[in-house]
Amino acid sequence: MHSSPSPSAPVGPCVALVVAAGRGRRFGAERPKQYAPLAGRPLLHHTLAAFVRHPRIDAVRPVIHPDDLAEFEHAAAGLSVLAPVFGGDDRQESVRLGLESLVELAPTHVLVHDGARPLVSAELIGRVVDALATSGGALPALPVTDSLKRAVDGEVVVGLPREGLWRAQTPQAFHFGPLLAAHRALAGSALTDDSALAEGVGLRVMLVEGEEGNLKVTTPEDLARAERMLARAGGAGLAPRTGQGFDVHRFGPGDGVILCGVRIAHDRALVGHSDADVALHALTDAILGALAEGDIGTHFPPSDPRWRGADSALFLADAAARVRARGGILAHVDLTLICEHPRIGPHRAAMTVRVAEILGLAQDRVGIKATTSEGLGFTGRGEGIAALAVATVLLPG
Ligand code: MG
Repeated sequence: MHSSPSPSAPVGPCVALVVAAGRGRRFGAERPKQYAPLAGRPLLHHTLAAFVRHPRIDAVRPVIHPDDLAEFEHAAAGLSVLAPVFGGDDRQESVRLGLESLVELAPTHVLVHDGARPLVSAELIGRVVDALATSGGALPALPVTDSLKRAVDGEVVVGLPREGLWRAQTPQAFHFGPLLAAHRALAGSALTDDSALAEGVGLRVMLVEGEEGNLKVTTPEDLARAERMLARAGGAGLAPRTGQGFDVHRFGPGDGVILCGVRIAHDRALVGHSDADVALHALTDAILGALAEGDIGTHFPPSDPRWRGADSALFLADAAARVRARGGILAHVDLTLICEHPRIGPHRAAMTVRVAEILGLAQDRVGIKATTSEGLGFTGRGEGIAALAVATVLLPG
């Protein structure tokens, strides 16, 4: 075990290779686990951000699957990472391709990290970098504490001693040249991690202390656990803010309305400068309200011809980007539409999907409800539609 390395260990340019090219078949969801929403952002965003923000890391190279380019762009939005490279058929091949892509940058050190470990701490990244001052490689690990058994057909045949056994984590850190050479020499051997590969060519790899919190998200239960851990960690540095939004648009001639970005056939249309999506306008104002950054008219004045007929998703996405720019997390939105017609119920699911998509939120963080006003008032007389929204945002400080 590496003990108390000097914090000023002399290491040169250091690149993090974040490997996120897997299909995550054990996760059972339609999208790969590394893009599942975690605390309001794609999981991979958290992983990339941990390295982008680390003072000892000079550049971050993501390795992704070619099918995931659009998901990746969303996950990396606002983060300064190198252009992604495409991975190969298995993890070892993906790492090799990532390393080959770094040759032109000529780093002295490289950290190889699983994209599905979003909770890696700055301290752990610092520990593996420090270890390279005295070792060819560094592997974070935790001791095995449970008893180990070997079983055949569900029956225990032998207990195994756990002494000297460790659970390997990432990031695993190496001197760049020797690791690249090891990958080239052992290409195609399908080893599970880089320390196995380093051992294969006789590189010395030092154990450093891993972290229980540095979990690898493999199942939906892991994702829920990561979410709880982030919420606890966020409790220390992020404070909740609640914003409200209200909007009204009147009916005019037409053959349909757009609500939450979903077009609904109707015998009239809503009148407005943009697409008159009263629901997205109320949601946008709720988020801006939580940020105390004015209202939709402040940022997108109706007098500006650029917003004539605009898709209101633009306004809502801008508000969500403002949350991220402040280092915050959008935790939740809730919307109530008030109208007699059209009926909202049949469209509610599509609206939830669209709002969640625009905001990069999990669907269970998007509330959409509707009510009539019992025939009373302007909504009751069918003169227009009103929308009320609330947003909860977690902000630093
Ligand atoms: Mg409006």
